[in-house]
Amino acid sequence: MAQLFPHLPFHEDETPVSWVARLSALHGCPSLRSFLSDQGIRPSDLLHGARQVVERLCEVTGQDPEPVWRNTASSQGKEVYMLRGEIIPASMLVREETRFCPLCLHEDDAGHGHPGIARRDRLAWSLRVVTTCPRHKLALILRAREHRENMLHKLHLHVPERGKELVALARDAAHRDPSPLQTYVLNRLEGRIGPDWLDSQSLEQAVKATQMLGMTFAFGAGIRLGSIDRDGWDLAGRMGWDWVAQGEPGLRSAFRALQDAAFAQGRGGQNYFTVFGQIHHWLLEPGDRSDHGPVKQVLRDYIIQNMDVCVGRDLLGQPVERRCKYSVQSLALETGLHRQTLCKVLVARGLIAAADAEKGNAILLVDADDGLATAAALTSSVSQAQLRPLLKATLPTVTCLIDLGQLTPLHRSVGENTRDKCGYDIEEVNRLIKRVHDLAPETANLPSDWVTLTQCTKRGRIPMRQLLAMILQGRIRGIGRAPGGAGFKALRIDLEEMRRLPD
Ligand SMILES: [Zn+2]
Repeated sequence: MAQLFPHLPFHEDETPVSWVARLSALHGCPSLRSFLSDQGIRPSDLLHGARQVVERLCEVTGQDPEPVWRNTASSQGKEVYMLRGEIIPASMLVREETRFCPLCLHEDDAGHGHPGIARRDRLAWSLRVVTTCPRHKLALILRAREHRENMLHKLHLHVPERGKELVALARDAAHRDPSPLQTYVLNRLEGRIGPDWLDSQSLEQAVKATQMLGMTFAFGAGIRLGSIDRDGWDLAGRMGWDWVAQGEPGLRSAFRALQDAAFAQGRGGQNYFTVFGQIHHWLLEPGDRSDHGPVKQVLRDYIIQNMDVCVGRDLLGQPVERRCKYSVQSLALETGLHRQTLCKVLVARGLIAAADAEKGNAILLVDADDGLATAAALTSSVSQAQLRPLLKATLPTVTCLIDLGQLTPLHRSVGENTRDKCGYDIEEVNRLIKRVHDLAPETANLPSDWVTLTQCTKRGRIPMRQLLAMILQGRIRGIGRAPGGAGFKALRIDLEEMRRLPD
């Protein structure tokens, strides 16, 4: 049975404290505190959103409790509130200041004599992520509260301006669209769904992931959070939104963009903070709520797949079990090879772009398998002087094989005639011998007039280079090797066939 008249209905967009403040003004109480006292309610119970307080107030005012409860952030202990089924940490709520839209208050005042009764403190304004009035597209104005108890002050005491003064405040405030992150949060509290990836996590996780990612895009990896004001957080949320709205593929694209930007500036390596900035810093924090949501795993997977890691070392909470990439530095350390030589070989193999070769060895990356294969080739490389005994070939043969590209130095030094310093891949040498042996199989009873390579060039007047090219192209049928013979010196060729071949 309602005891208080006249009736003042709760408005669907206001906070319970706003409604009680308006009630106290309607009933002529000098303060909200005295009004609560008259009803036997402790102010802290109202501020904590205690259910029995809401029910008690609704009972004495004849108000349906459902809309009031819907707008009540009720304390779950430990600085955590529940609002419409969403867990909201106190850090997401505004307590130290009053936020308002002057034009909304101007509309409240219109047609009502007493602003204390008419003005509503909007639920949306109490959320930190909300910084723009969606109705008037106006940046909310802040008024600091001197004390937490001032949360119980009436709105018209925090904002004494009326009429033209409110319009003037609006004129001076920034005009902008609400950030998509703000819109997402308000929509989610209204029960709307999407984007899926954000819906799959807590409201706090969704907001933090968006803002922390956007922080690096807005201000760079080196920014410190202490220097970021309210508009800076708003900007960060806007900058992060387009990536997170696309879910995990969007996040991976964002991480790629940050890594590319860092690489261009010579930053990166295993110092991930210099690439990802605050989002990486935040994900390292243990904190009270160490569950950062799914972004942590996405970043961890990204780093393992795309960056230099240290196997066995902790990466965002779990040890790294395998590596997909080496930096030149880590590959050189692991294999004991000289960094610059290794880098030259990786460039020669096209695994590192020549244009990047001057960048730091810690940020030059190569696929792990390719890197290890290159390192192995370099470790077991043979000198040009060793090629003759290995191939069982004359010096002109070896020289021509190199000119034909059948043997490639692991890297090319600047200047002529420096190939012998560079070494050759023993695997390439072995593959060449096997190929020649396959093309020239061991043959019993070789015709006695078949000749060696050198004899063939002289008697047939065929340059060695051309002869070798024809052999390796498989164009010569009259070719073989004496049983047990190996290498180029063991080849025997049908000179008559050579003479019949067109040039
Ligand atoms: Zn407004």
